[in-house]
Amino acid sequence: MMDCPKCDSETLVETSALGNIPLDVCPACGGIWFDKGELEALLAQSQGGAGADLSLISPKPEGLSCPRCRSGMTRGGLVNPLLIVDKCGTCGGVWLDSHELALLEKLLGIVGGRTEVRVARPAPAPEPEAQPGGRAPFLKYALGAVSLAGLAGFSYELYLYFSPAGSAGHTPSALLAGGSALLLAGGIFSINRLED
Ligand SMILES: [Zn+2]
Ligand SMILES: [Zn+2]
Repeated sequence: MMDCPKCDSETLVETSALGNIPLDVCPACGGIWFDKGELEALLAQSQGGAGADLSLISPKPEGLSCPRCRSGMTRGGLVNPLLIVDKCGTCGGVWLDSHELALLEKLLGIVGGRTEVRVARPAPAPEPEAQPGGRAPFLKYALGAVSLAGLAGFSYELYLYFSPAGSAGHTPSALLAGGSALLLAGGIFSINRLED
């Protein structure tokens, strides 16, 4: 990720619009960043592989700061005195303003080339999705409690039922036992539905 050296808070976007070389283009000003070797490769393609002299013509140390390594770049002509670029002496990258692209394409012999490379800003990171059914976990715990209550009631009835007559204070109640069993079954059934 590199920021545009000309615009505030614009991030360069990678595109393969020119000669299948991945370039980084500013979505706002259309400036193009060539990493070391990329522009040389483009020029070599157009000039039959002849090693072009890529040292700057009448360089001036007043360039932008390098988007790759933050060093101050040098401004000067590249190949042609009219093609003014900013070149980084540290990492070897070259920054081309949008309006200089047409001249570069002329130099490269690209006929009918675009006068600019347009890229769209990358889509912003997707918002974290609102938790669908955010109440489900709570509901699940509540249903779990209902099931446990049913289980407890049912167990208590079983205990009463199997304990020797007279030793327990209560006699089993069919209504309570049935209700507990329903609570237990209903709670478990609802939890299973929630998990679908
Ligand atoms: Zn820009
Ligand atoms: Zn640099």
